Amino acid sequence: MALVDPISEARAAKRTALDELAGKRLLANFGISVPKSVIVQDADAAAAACGNLKPPLVLKVVSPDILHKSDAGGVKVGLENAADVGEAVRAMMGRPAIENARIDGFLLEEMAPAGVELVVGGLRDPQFGPLVMVGLGGVFVEMLADVAFRICPITRLDAEEMLDELKGAALLRGARGRTAVSREAIVDALLKVGGERGLLMTHAEDIAEADINPLIVSEQGAVAVDARFVLTR
Ligand code: ADP
Ligand code: MG
Repeated sequence: MALVDPISEARAAKRTALDELAGKRLLANFGISVPKSVIVQDADAAAAACGNLKPPLVLKVVSPDILHKSDAGGVKVGLENAADVGEAVRAMMGRPAIENARIDGFLLEEMAPAGVELVVGGLRDPQFGPLVMVGLGGVFVEMLADVAFRICPITRLDAEEMLDELKGAALLRGARGRTAVSREAIVDALLKVGGERGLLMTHAEDIAEADINPLIVSEQGAVAVDARFVLTR
């Protein structure tokens, strides 16, 4: 069965960006781990959908008007059962920033194992083409400004060097009694995004900006729990 290309779908619908679900489908097409998820429209559907997912779950609003879901009260983590989920949808729908926005639905997904939050990004330079970026910090990435960039395509060695460049590289090695996270999983994800046959090279004409924030990395692996892609004009 041919994979449905989320970029062609978005183009056909005249959208200028991929929503979170489409973005995650694109990542999955390139072998990057994403949480198992479903999109639902209301509290009852959300509660009913719990049966096919393994708790704890996360609920997120999906809206073209809301870029930073947490700021709008549009992310609720740690939901343990159908009652929690139903209540979370109702509470979210009542938030002022959400009540007044166009809502495409709610994404209900499994939680990634706890770990270090990285950001993996991409952008298209008019001169050099796609660039790939990795940084530490997840939600704090702007504050920490600890990032490394390379021109695509990157090799395994480039990916390794990008990680060594980070000021907070020690965090990945398990500083202060924390367990080390899988460096291999980060390198692998960077190659799937920025490598020769990676996402950014493959879709160089279509992707203006890519933002995986965060990629949660633990001992077990790396999971992209948020994704946003802006398409070229
Ligand atoms: P936004 O960046 O739009 O505020 P995110 O989807 O990045 O929303 O979610 C905010 C935070 O919630 C993430 O940085 C992460 O800490 C946590 N989170 C979101 N989804 C998951 C998930 N599936 N598993 C674990 N943590 C999650
Ligand atoms: Mg995010």
